[in-house]
Amino acid sequence: MAQRACFVALIEGRRTLERQQWLYAQGRTRPGPKVTPCDGIKTRSKHQDGIAADYWARTKDGRVYCPGPLSPFWEEFAACAAKIKLVTLEKKGDFDHIEMPEKSA
Ligand SMILES: [Zn+2]
Repeated sequence: MAQRACFVALIEGRRTLERQQWLYAQGRTRPGPKVTPCDGIKTRSKHQDGIAADYWARTKDGRVYCPGPLSPFWEEFAACAAKIKLVTLEKKGDFDHIEMPEKSA
């Protein structure tokens, strides 16, 4: 079986409340598209708890870029994440996000 490789670059891991609120303001009180449904207080991001991270693609020569939503990179990214039991949110349109799964009872 061929080994699969997924070249990624960490874009953002743990977030402060201030950073989460700044992101939440985008598309609401600040220009730009909405990037998160989490306001940081009523709805916390898993980034605030340090159990989520965002990754982009990295070329073999080290160039970092964000693939478009239709890129096959994201399918590979989700497959690599699933292999180590991490959750991706591509079905919610949040392609670059990866997080720890909810604890099962
Ligand atoms: Zn994220």
